[in-house]
Amino acid sequence: MSPIRYDFRSDTVTRPSAAMRTAMANAEVGDDVFGDDPTLNRLEALAADMLGKEAALFLPSGTQSNLTALMAHCGRGDEYIVGQNQHAYRWEAGGAAVLGSIQPQPLENEADGTIPLEKIEAAIKPDDFHYARTRLLSLENTIGGKVLSLDYMRSAIELARRHGLNTHLDGARIFNAATALGVPVAEVAAGFDTVSVCLSKGLGAPVGSVLVGRKDLVEAGRRIRKMLGGGMRQAGILAAGGIHALENNVARLADDHANALRLAEGLRSFNGLTLELPQTNILFVRVAPEIAADYSAHLEAHGVGITGTYDGSRQRWVTHLDVDSAAIDAALAITRDFFAAR
Ligand SMILES: *Cc1c(COP(=O)(O)O)cnc(C)c1O
Repeated sequence: MSPIRYDFRSDTVTRPSAAMRTAMANAEVGDDVFGDDPTLNRLEALAADMLGKEAALFLPSGTQSNLTALMAHCGRGDEYIVGQNQHAYRWEAGGAAVLGSIQPQPLENEADGTIPLEKIEAAIKPDDFHYARTRLLSLENTIGGKVLSLDYMRSAIELARRHGLNTHLDGARIFNAATALGVPVAEVAAGFDTVSVCLSKGLGAPVGSVLVGRKDLVEAGRRIRKMLGGGMRQAGILAAGGIHALENNVARLADDHANALRLAEGLRSFNGLTLELPQTNILFVRVAPEIAADYSAHLEAHGVGITGTYDGSRQRWVTHLDVDSAAIDAALAITRDFFAAR
């Protein structure tokens, strides 16, 4: 297997830049379990401020951040409404059910990532002892690289409120959503009781997520984080990477979106590759079955890393700050060579 030179597998593969490493190395630290780490406290204040929320909590991963939020909202025997394709339901090993005793009520996502409001409404259970107690509506933005509109989110939040439900947004890539919508990130977060944000994806920090939201929920989350083993000590080293990411790597997400679009426009000119143009930094490509295995092998042999189904018929390409415009050119040239040789 040749080494990966152009790594489109995920925006999680980004490595901290020299400037970020310097900020991390020089971070002033303390013991965060005692609340003493000044850099971590600065990150939490910055995140709360940028997202327009009362409070913030730093956690080691997006998975722990979502689980902490779900457990802050829901107790044993409560239920949350969630999309089938959402990370918190599908890709987090069932943590809410296993560790939180929270019953998921998954609903199909439409192709655009939304869950129809009437389906949400129909899934909310009445107050009857036969049922679990529906407590929470959870959405995700971006979801599969697609952006939920401000209108949709506002309507969903309004519906949840009307039925006495809390709301959580898995905003692992909320800054990509804000970039695509052309609004401040606080507008995307507006109205949600809690929002989970990944610092370690397109923003380029090596580790960490922040859970922002209502003060009472974030404070409940602090106890849950401890229970889950996420209380860290001199975590200011990590938080410094997060601060650097929030201060330096947000505006440039537009470059990732432009790169993904240019990649998509290039790829779709080849017979046998079909795709929708990406809204953000994630691109899905369908590959005709007769070329799927060979095209996958060709990309791999030429150092292009992607993910997708094992048979190569559905590919996922993700752009991020470690694949520049030259990497897009390279991936397209490697693809051109594949098709030219057939
Ligand atoms: C990556 C991701 C997470 C989980 O983050 P980890 O830090 O990998 O645990 C949660 N939600 C979404 C939408 C994600 O893309």
